[in-house]
Amino acid sequence: MTVRGRFVTFEGIDGAGKSTHIEFVAQLLRSTGKDVVVTREPGGTELGERVRALVLGVSMSARTETLLMFAARSEHLVQVIEPSLARGQCVLCDRFTDATYAYQAGGRQLSEGLIETLENWVHPNLQPDLTLLFDLDPALAAQRLAGARNADRFEAEQRQFFARVRAMYLARAQRFPARFIVLDGAASIESIRLELSARLASWITN
Ligand code: ADP
Repeated sequence: MTVRGRFVTFEGIDGAGKSTHIEFVAQLLRSTGKDVVVTREPGGTELGERVRALVLGVSMSARTETLLMFAARSEHLVQVIEPSLARGQCVLCDRFTDATYAYQAGGRQLSEGLIETLENWVHPNLQPDLTLLFDLDPALAAQRLAGARNADRFEAEQRQFFARVRAMYLARAQRFPARFIVLDGAASIESIRLELSARLASWITN
């Protein structure tokens, strides 16, 4: 019987270092012989990528945005995440439902209960096995992004918004300490890599 794969999510505000480190973790896992799938939200499927373009580019209410996020997630789960895990692959996902809590409940101030209702509908029996939270001061994240590319609709939001997103991420890490690892996103890329290698070592062999 195939052993179910592990589901690892990468979280943090824009510019915190998720994409920088997801490939590193993928290589780390591959070097131990694991079959790894790297994906992202919103995205990961044709429908998801189209939803991504919509939510990043078109103005809409917080409710519509939340429903689109879960619609894309639903398709992502059916087409990519669940089948990959069932095949025994390790799925690394750049953002998942913690991001909806952080952005739509924290940032946009929708009720957490509402998001919980959608979560219970879309994935009642699945939670990440591990969530790597890259924690970073929004001012530093904005500085990094200013040098990297043009701001999209989310990145252009004021600093207060990202402070609320960050606070919600940290609140979730406190609430679910067994699956969260909080990393200092302000540390150097090299030291974050060292910490990831050290903290994932025992997890990989289990
Ligand atoms: P995210 O995927 O979380 O939005 P990225 O990984 O794309 O963030 O990083 C945003 C920018 O910051 C990139 O230009 C990246 O090279 C840089 N960066 C990421 N992590 C660090 C770090 N620890 N120190 C300095 N720069 C970093």
